[in-house]
Amino acid sequence: MKLLVIGGGGREHALAWKLSLSPRVHKVFVAPGNAGTALEHGLENISISSIPELIKFVQIENIAITVVGPELPLAAGIVDAFQASGLKIFGPTQKAAQLETSKIFAKEFMQRHQIPTASYTRFTDPELAHQYIDQHSTPLVIKADGLAAGKGVIVAQTREQAHSAVNAILVEKNLGTAGCEIIIEEFLQGIEVSFIVMTDSRNILPLATSQDHKRLYDGEMGPNTGGMGAYSPAPFISHSLHTHIMHNIIVPVIDGLKQEGINYTGFLYAGLMITPDSRAKVLEFNCRLGDPETQPIMLRLKSDLLTLIEHAINGTLDKADIDWDQRAALGVVMAAHGYPDNPRKNDAIYGLHDLIDELKGNDDFHIFHAGTHMNGKNKNEIMTAGGRVLCATALGENIKIAQQNAYKLIEKIHFDGYQIRRDIGYQGISYQGK
Ligand code: ATP
Repeated sequence: MKLLVIGGGGREHALAWKLSLSPRVHKVFVAPGNAGTALEHGLENISISSIPELIKFVQIENIAITVVGPELPLAAGIVDAFQASGLKIFGPTQKAAQLETSKIFAKEFMQRHQIPTASYTRFTDPELAHQYIDQHSTPLVIKADGLAAGKGVIVAQTREQAHSAVNAILVEKNLGTAGCEIIIEEFLQGIEVSFIVMTDSRNILPLATSQDHKRLYDGEMGPNTGGMGAYSPAPFISHSLHTHIMHNIIVPVIDGLKQEGINYTGFLYAGLMITPDSRAKVLEFNCRLGDPETQPIMLRLKSDLLTLIEHAINGTLDKADIDWDQRAALGVVMAAHGYPDNPRKNDAIYGLHDLIDELKGNDDFHIFHAGTHMNGKNKNEIMTAGGRVLCATALGENIKIAQQNAYKLIEKIHFDGYQIRRDIGYQGISYQGK
């Protein structure tokens, strides 16, 4: 069977790799993919991006199922277009993806369905937003309504920062139409976790829990990024908290959407704050898997991902069994010089080929690529091509050992100016050490 994965980041490398391990799959195309997917056995990159051309490709190649990685094609309606052409695709429709593409839609939806989240106020008028800031104490969280590739959320520690965020988004329009409207949200304190499920719109299958590290520097310092590393499981989510999250957040989301005439099929990601009273509140929804959470999650997944996706597409997720490696997995992102503001491209990456040879046949470790490409002149040379470059991912008996294993991989890779965090997993390690 042939499959297609849409996207070219670390999440898509991990998804395509995992799908290729299914005994029923003989080829996974990745559009556009990266150097990692180009090198992986059973995967092939294609450089097609327009939805009509992708549909044509899928029809000609007789591809059984397409899996969508990132949010932009979902927002552009790729699922609707494929379904209109009678093609099988896994992901939410454009309407269902509003949970991610409009923060105001998500907030109002949560209010209608009593789903716990931070309180908020909407603004289009900068003057009213400034007045609101002057009347409230900080920290405050300023969020642009639309998709902004991680740049639309500002956690303002001071009123000055809050005012300048309002000016940047509503007055200077530096996020374009994504910033026509903002919300100013209550700051929540606690531990952030990622809670991801698969759903066929009726049945819900939770994946292993995980935690991402959004800030660039150790100890949650520096600017927000797409994510500098992640691990699974997130030990803070006890059995009772898991039940609480399913009952109070995930089930009401899927049921609430259905009541409003929206059938949600796909992965659903809830970014949650676990507050000091051990309750969960929603920070954000993503209508897809998280990146880099997917990389450790896929390393832990023992079940056949294709079978799970088929169940989800056919509405039989209640019949699906999901089996996890009981060990922890942890991924450390190597980011380019200048990331996140101005990532440098075209630095040669050293050590990868030797490492790939060394890891051959060993599924306890994997180097997932994101912003990489093959040097056009020298095909053996892999170059940086974007902000987040690689995610070195490893399993271990516990989070601490998975962390040591992942950092051992990093020691064998080098490119000029690379940036890593040295503390990925620290909250989970300290929790497990208690
Ligand atoms: P974008 O929408 O631009 O793509 P994003 O989806 O990455 O950005 P969020 O995940 O909603 O943005 O927020 C980024 C980070 O900001 C969160 O991971 C969290 O650390 C912090 N954050 C968001 N909302 C709150 C809140 N209400 N209280 C405390 N921290 C918050």
